[in-house]
Amino acid sequence: MSRVAVVTGANRGIGLAIATRLAAEGMRVVLASRSASAGEEAASRYPEHAGRISVGTLDVADRGSIVDFTRWLHRTHGRCDVLVNNAAVAIDGAQDAGTADLGLVRATLEVNLFGAWQMTQALVPAMRARGYGRIVNMSSGVGRLSAMTGGIPGYRVSKTALNALTLVFADELRADGILVNACCPGHVRTGMGGAGAERSAEAAADTPVWLAGLPPDGPTGGFFRDRRPLAW
Ligand code: NAP
Repeated sequence: MSRVAVVTGANRGIGLAIATRLAAEGMRVVLASRSASAGEEAASRYPEHAGRISVGTLDVADRGSIVDFTRWLHRTHGRCDVLVNNAAVAIDGAQDAGTADLGLVRATLEVNLFGAWQMTQALVPAMRARGYGRIVNMSSGVGRLSAMTGGIPGYRVSKTALNALTLVFADELRADGILVNACCPGHVRTGMGGAGAERSAEAAADTPVWLAGLPPDGPTGGFFRDRRPLAW
């Protein structure tokens, strides 16, 4: 039976590139999208993966949506082997910490940190049941404490916290055969990264796809860019 992978925020950008790569590698992929129609439209552009991609409706900032999604996943797929916490927002780009609208900061944390946290809580029991799991948290170099600067405070803090959460879960889940890692995709041409970014979404998908298929003796509690360790 092929592995089942859930990719959040997969209707566009890097998430879509990760979902299609995982499908090309033979996994059964759930393309999770907060808009069902956007998810179906994205999936329809890859008829070659039609048998391996299914679309699930999921808003990671909505507890009820996570509960409904998890029930649907268990009913339709019966297992979950891989979770890619990719969904994120970057909505405080023009802010500095001194005057930041904390409503925007909270909204950022709700998706980028608590969304990933709640999804991990929801899907780890299915991984534990089989003694196997791979969790990939899409982070960012701007969240590194070793290279921290001002600007975009909510987004930065959300990714620093996601990095910390990666280490916490990696330690807690090590004995269950579940490997938990974070990665930075680089600066990528997406809605978030902008048209001038140097890297394609397909190229950015390489490291998370690698982490999603790690062998049992692969790393856990790591932070990677281009498959190489990155300073926290
Ligand atoms: P993107 O093009 O802006 O796509 C973001 C995705 O997240 C969309 O599918 C969006 O759905 C989804 N999303 C947002 N809020 C959601 C919610 N509440 N529930 C479910 N889905 C939600 O971003 P991207 O560039 O592909 O980024 C992917 C990941 O890489 C993110 O974690 C980002 O922080 C990280 N990253 C990106 C860059 C870069 O240069 N692009 C650099 C470093 C890190 P809708 O279509 O419904 O809005």
